[in-house]
Amino acid sequence: MARGIPCHGSPQHVLRFTDGSEMPIGKIICLARTYRKHAEEMGGEVREKPLLFLKPVSAVISNRQTIVLPQKSRDVHHEVEMALVIGRQGKNIPVGESLRYIAGYCLALDITARDIQQEAKDHGWPWAIAKGFDTFCPLSRAVPAGDVDNPHSLGLLLAVNGDIRQRATTASLAYTVQEIVAYVSTLMTLERGDIILTGTPEGVGALKAGDVVTASLGDVCHLSHPVVGETQATGKQGREKGEESG
Ligand code: MG
Repeated sequence: MARGIPCHGSPQHVLRFTDGSEMPIGKIICLARTYRKHAEEMGGEVREKPLLFLKPVSAVISNRQTIVLPQKSRDVHHEVEMALVIGRQGKNIPVGESLRYIAGYCLALDITARDIQQEAKDHGWPWAIAKGFDTFCPLSRAVPAGDVDNPHSLGLLLAVNGDIRQRATTASLAYTVQEIVAYVSTLMTLERGDIILTGTPEGVGALKAGDVVTASLGDVCHLSHPVVGETQATGKQGREKGEESG
């Protein structure tokens, strides 16, 4: 029988709201190339419809948990994003009704193994591995939709060790949140607890072991995460396990 392997993801996968309510997290849908300047820095362009991929829920971590750099990658990047929390089931949702399906907004980091993603792009392979490692989806607490006056005027900020790397507002999003919900719902049924990461603005860059990443969305959503290498993380967990059993 295989030895137990340390796990880095949250065991519960529950999203907490600032009003104290909770929601089990469903599927995590991510959009790409939704900010023009970031699309350009990646050598692409904003298209009529955004690119879409999925992250596994096992990648989710909460505020202050550790981001683990996997040994399989040499180039892990940060991407700061506004995320939409879906509150009710819907398919083919009209743009004019789509706000009623958004239960709230939260801050997300779409952590990306850029070297693995580039290899996938070069070969026409899916991005699942590049985007799906454990700890690659930090999520903040969510703000109920009723407490957000305008989701298209929220500040997005990300700093590494205090140095600002990404600063933008959601006003630069190429699509409205209504258009995003409506479009995704033409592809797959949206369900309560689903999360839609709306893409990142320019300024993405590498993370290394020992960094501390801090980020914010508007005034309410904040994240702060130490970054460690996988060997460091598993070694630490192994020691902790040994201490417990010893
Ligand atoms: Mg992204």
